Amino acid sequence: MKTITVLGATGSVGTSTLDLIERSPDAFRVVALTANSDVERLASAALRTRARRAVVADEARLPALRDALAGSGIEAAGGDAAVAEAAAMGADVTVAAIVGCAGLRPAMAAVEQGGTLALANKEALVSAGDVMNAAVQRSGATLLPVDSEHSAIFQCLDARLAGRVSRIVLTASGGPFRDRPLEDMRAITPAQAVAHPNWSMGAKISVDSATMMNKGLELIEAYHLFPVASEQIEIVVHRQSVIHSMVEYVDGSVLAQLGTPDMRTPIAYALAWPDRMATPGERLDLVRVGRLDFEAPDQERFPALRLAREALEAGGARPAILNAANEVAVDAFLKGRVGYLEIAAIVADTLERFDPLAPSSLDAVLDVDREARALAEERVKDRVA
Ligand code: NDP
Repeated sequence: MKTITVLGATGSVGTSTLDLIERSPDAFRVVALTANSDVERLASAALRTRARRAVVADEARLPALRDALAGSGIEAAGGDAAVAEAAAMGADVTVAAIVGCAGLRPAMAAVEQGGTLALANKEALVSAGDVMNAAVQRSGATLLPVDSEHSAIFQCLDARLAGRVSRIVLTASGGPFRDRPLEDMRAITPAQAVAHPNWSMGAKISVDSATMMNKGLELIEAYHLFPVASEQIEIVVHRQSVIHSMVEYVDGSVLAQLGTPDMRTPIAYALAWPDRMATPGERLDLVRVGRLDFEAPDQERFPALRLAREALEAGGARPAILNAANEVAVDAFLKGRVGYLEIAAIVADTLERFDPLAPSSLDAVLDVDREARALAEERVKDRVA
């Protein structure tokens, strides 16, 4: 029996995590569940899983949460600090499934406790990779990837032979616009961008997949999770999303992890690690898949890939700025304030105008994040005007 906390329990990854937990009631005991504002879904999940505590980040929603949980004995709390406190309740496994840099402080609070952090919230590691890895070293926490690509790499990478790894190949579906000519991209709508061909995900990561910024963030995530240099990480477009990523060793052997595109597989791997647990998803039928295709990504139509690699190579505050500006630009796109092609332009512009010193603490990362957001918001306003 493992104790478990799910941060971002009402989202796409959070819901898949709860599905697995509820199918294995003897394997997990829920400590805390958190959400931003979706009290109905949060309370329902807390009641079903008999969680000890439910936390809503938006304090205005706390009275509604209290009402929904009245008489259940489940503690209710509200506010950002309460989310971080829930993360620090000492669960064996904390699933970090909040979207965006908003998940950074709670993820760090869990790391400080020294348990296992199952990380879906890639933005946290992109913004604060060095700071988070230092905290992991200090506390003895275990950081496990939930992102399907990084789970694949983790499963293929023999830690005892880290020095014998020559390359990591991150696969990318290419998103819904992989075949769309650049001149047609200007008119892309939010509804088109969130309709991913292979995966069902939250709105923000769906847009990131459409711009391929998601793969850029994953490049930076991989760099912080695995013992390789940035130039050893290659991105290959593989439209079927069957091979989730690969590891090449010095002898030329390439190990890959395959499966149907169902987030419950990588989530289950992190929950059960070092064991494995059954999942209900569809099994891989290679005959039905028929063929696997690979191609180089198009850097011209997907400039986010170049921006992310440059940010990784420059290091310091650059990845945090990249991430913050992207969050602002994606939000503005989803609200219809700027066009699809403006997303990467706003990120590039923000990176050009802001070059602070490398942040060496959590608070310093959050300062960079705040300032980059303000600058990116100005760029959004310039474009709306
Ligand atoms: P969703 O948008 O579906 O869910 C986000 C979750 O975070 C919700 O529970 C939401 O609460 C909560 N949340 C949002 N803002 C805040 C905030 N300011 N403070 C506290 N909680 C907040 O996202 P996904 O599940 O798609 O993605 C979550 C993370 O996992 C992202 O970092 C994404 O990149 C990563 N990921 C997702 C995959 C997927 O398949 N979806 C695959 C791999 C990685 P509420 O519901 O109340 O708004």
